[in-house]
Amino acid sequence: MINHSIPYGRQNITAEDIQIVIDTLQSDYLTQGPKILEFEQKFSEYIGCKYAVAVANGTAALHLCTLALEVGKGDKVITTPITFAASANCVRYCGAEVVFSDIDPTTYLIDIEKVKNLLASSPKGTYKGIIPVDFAGRATNLEEFKALADEYDLWIIEDACHAPGGYFIDSEGKTQNCGNGNFADLAIFSFHPVKHIACGEGGMVTTNDEILYQKLLMLRTHGITKQADTFTNSIELAGGEDKYPAWYMEMQMLGFNYRLTDFQAALGLSQLERAEEGLLRRKEIAERYKTAFVNKSFIKGQSDVVEGHAYHLYIIEVEDRLGLYNYLRLQHIYAQIHYIPCHLMPYYRQFGWKENDMPLAESYYKYCISLPMYPTLTEAEQLFVIEKINEYYNK
Ligand SMILES: *Cc1c(COP(=O)(O)O)cnc(C)c1O
Repeated sequence: MINHSIPYGRQNITAEDIQIVIDTLQSDYLTQGPKILEFEQKFSEYIGCKYAVAVANGTAALHLCTLALEVGKGDKVITTPITFAASANCVRYCGAEVVFSDIDPTTYLIDIEKVKNLLASSPKGTYKGIIPVDFAGRATNLEEFKALADEYDLWIIEDACHAPGGYFIDSEGKTQNCGNGNFADLAIFSFHPVKHIACGEGGMVTTNDEILYQKLLMLRTHGITKQADTFTNSIELAGGEDKYPAWYMEMQMLGFNYRLTDFQAALGLSQLERAEEGLLRRKEIAERYKTAFVNKSFIKGQSDVVEGHAYHLYIIEVEDRLGLYNYLRLQHIYAQIHYIPCHLMPYYRQFGWKENDMPLAESYYKYCISLPMYPTLTEAEQLFVIEKINEYYNK
């Protein structure tokens, strides 16, 4: 018997995490200081990309990506309806149009065949980019998307919020980590407490493209640069004699304040050290769910246990999902639904999106429920969750 509440996801803050935050609070830097650079370096090593830019949250990371790629009015960008709204909203921030494309009902990821049909049915140049999401922690095969993107001259922003540490195996048998930038122009992560690594709020953009990297750095702080070799005003106008004065800086594009604080970066660094450990725990939990439900008649579908899955979520699809959801809540098990299809949000309906536009996503939404999944979920807690689900359907 378990009589405390069990959420679907939660952070794991240790004594070391708390100490490093206190130490950073007592240092000279509160906002961007040395911990930011260290976090960026360690994170890019972990992911296997060249550059990383730490930002205020995952949504800011997405916005910086669409800004850096100069998305604008009249552009059309493709994404999945089964994602958090931010994956689509970043396109709207730039005044461009979101085009949803339906999911593959077995992987729950955007279906590349449907994207191919969409691209082939319009003149080349209609679409500017695609935002695949490594939904639930399952890595999108970006090698395939890159081939398509090259054919149609599209950029790719990988929304890897669910998948730090996730990977797929490419056609040469090589491991390709989510966010490593080998196939996508840019990738983004979130450090919201329910994600793998928690900063409170926080996000990261990763890339292998140096030009985009430089642009992201500027856009993160108002579009301002202090790099003298990029200045366009004259030394004289800047107030200098033979060189630019030390105070001088230039705002060269319209940016934002999307900085992360140094103490949040310190927390992220400390969390990153336990990332592998957390992934292993998530995998064990996924395997136990899989085994528990594999032959159950009430299961219509469930998350695959596949290599490279980062298991941000473990999803089952069931009849009478509402009944199960409510029954679990009575036992203080707070399962969650991911996601209400984005195209059916009232905001997106104004652009003409409606029921039956994405039949597979809508059918998935009818049955899906995300079960508790986080590294500190104990075996006893998980067995309690499994028992209560079985109990609901056998009563
Ligand atoms: C969490 C999340 C985001 C946004 O991240 P925030 O840090 O909450 O702004 C974007 N996309 C997906 C898929 C997410 O899960």
